[in-house]
Amino acid sequence: MTVEADLLILGAPVYTADPARPWADAVAVRAGRIAAVGPESEVAALRGPATRVLALDGGLVLPGFADAHVHTADGGLELAQCNLRGVEPEGYAAAVARYAAGHPDAPFILGGGWVMDAFGTAGPHLATLDAAVGDRPVLLESTDGHSAWVNSRALELAGITRATPDPPRGRIERDAAGEPTGVLHEAAMALVADLAPRPDPAEWEAAIERGQAHLHRLGITAWQDAKVGPEMLAAYRALAERGRLTGRAVAALRWQVEAGQAQLADLVERRRAATVGRLRASAVKIFADGVFENRTAAMLTPYLDGDGRPGGDRGIAMLDPEELARVVTALDGEGFDVHVHAIGDRAVRDTLDAFEAAAAANGRRDARHQIAHLQFVHPDDRPRFRRLGVVANAQPFWSCLDGYMRELTLPFLEPERAGWQYPWASLRRAGAVLAFGSDWTVSTANPLEEIEVAVRRVAPDDRDGEPFLPAERLDLPAALDAFTIGSAYALRLEAETGSVTQGKLADLAVLDRDPFDEAAGPIGDARVLATLVEGQPVHADPSLDLSG
Ligand SMILES: [Zn+2]
Repeated sequence: MTVEADLLILGAPVYTADPARPWADAVAVRAGRIAAVGPESEVAALRGPATRVLALDGGLVLPGFADAHVHTADGGLELAQCNLRGVEPEGYAAAVARYAAGHPDAPFILGGGWVMDAFGTAGPHLATLDAAVGDRPVLLESTDGHSAWVNSRALELAGITRATPDPPRGRIERDAAGEPTGVLHEAAMALVADLAPRPDPAEWEAAIERGQAHLHRLGITAWQDAKVGPEMLAAYRALAERGRLTGRAVAALRWQVEAGQAQLADLVERRRAATVGRLRASAVKIFADGVFENRTAAMLTPYLDGDGRPGGDRGIAMLDPEELARVVTALDGEGFDVHVHAIGDRAVRDTLDAFEAAAAANGRRDARHQIAHLQFVHPDDRPRFRRLGVVANAQPFWSCLDGYMRELTLPFLEPERAGWQYPWASLRRAGAVLAFGSDWTVSTANPLEEIEVAVRRVAPDDRDGEPFLPAERLDLPAALDAFTIGSAYALRLEAETGSVTQGKLADLAVLDRDPFDEAAGPIGDARVLATLVEGQPVHADPSLDLSG
């Protein structure tokens, strides 16, 4: 006797990301799980009188995307703030003024999304913001989140003058005369940010729901929130307890460098309390360095000056190597998956050394330690990912010749190092598990645009441009796998999701076209018609008939 399916999906090829059966042409869902996947004739046999049928007219069915590194809650918060994403730099002042006028009661104007490459390495100037808002403090994060642009009122409030020293792990941008210019890098951002009102619990919950809805519209069914503090975690927990998390969330709890090992017990307790519904807090996030564009990435050799000569600066390691190894070993000993931000080749190497030290001290276990970003990976370090079982948590959208690369990166690098960037194909060939993530709101959260860059190494807004290090291109199945089964592995979800496999949860995405078909046009132009979690739509295009 066959058991009747709740839902059949027919009429489009299915890319399963399951190496045992990469392709199928129909899926049946029952009680939230994949009841069958295979030839339509077999799957359709599960149709009963109450079965809903999603009859597609082409397109592609995929596992739901899992974003291995994204800032869902912060992104949701930012969607409601002064958002400069998509605004041309000449329009920033007007956009800020407009937002401030529309929010006359906001004591502090907060937002972000400005791009650094329009201003050179010194960044924008406070005078632009002063002209837009003079009476209230303004703090706007750069699109990468590693710098803040503030106005004079904000500097005044924080007491920042030419006499203020740079804080540890941060830098106050200054002009030739030593006056602060209104840009704060890394830890210096907190001098102002700590004075801004914090979102209350209801605002955090609303932000997570906004962020979650944004991800669902893009086919994402699971994610790792890459930097979660206590208030954000409390909101995640509250939503998970009420069944309001419609996606699967892994919270990477933020490690506070200043708090040291004393915070370990607290992290263990927060992990316990946050294991509820679709929420897990199984990871801890550590910053090993900053970003290249503001000279805070930790490099093995010095940055070049603009004329091609090496200076003395090798960037900022947020923890010295011994301390990093101690912290990673302690977290590994507590069973956490350690998620480390590392951009520079020195930061990547120090982190791999730390994972090696942890394995030596604690023994190897089934950990999902991961290094995110991986802009510069020394060739000698590439085989270590497989040997140490470290997941390469990659942001493929960055691996192209955009303004950040042309203006703020390549001029400051010797040619050999320039060729070491974002080595996705090399890492994969060396046996690393690749997990893709967006780092939204740093970049778009659209996995299809990100996959297009992984496959072509050309930005979607510059499609006729020159590919960046084309030897590092991935083929489309490899890129899809990195955004589905690979990232599910990074999130410890691969036994339940990440591929369209009989018995797994029915977390699926449906595209309006088949990117494997060259005639379908650019991958990044594909749209997500439906996103299902356990067979239930969490996003559906109005054109779809899900009633059956
Ligand atoms: Zn991030």
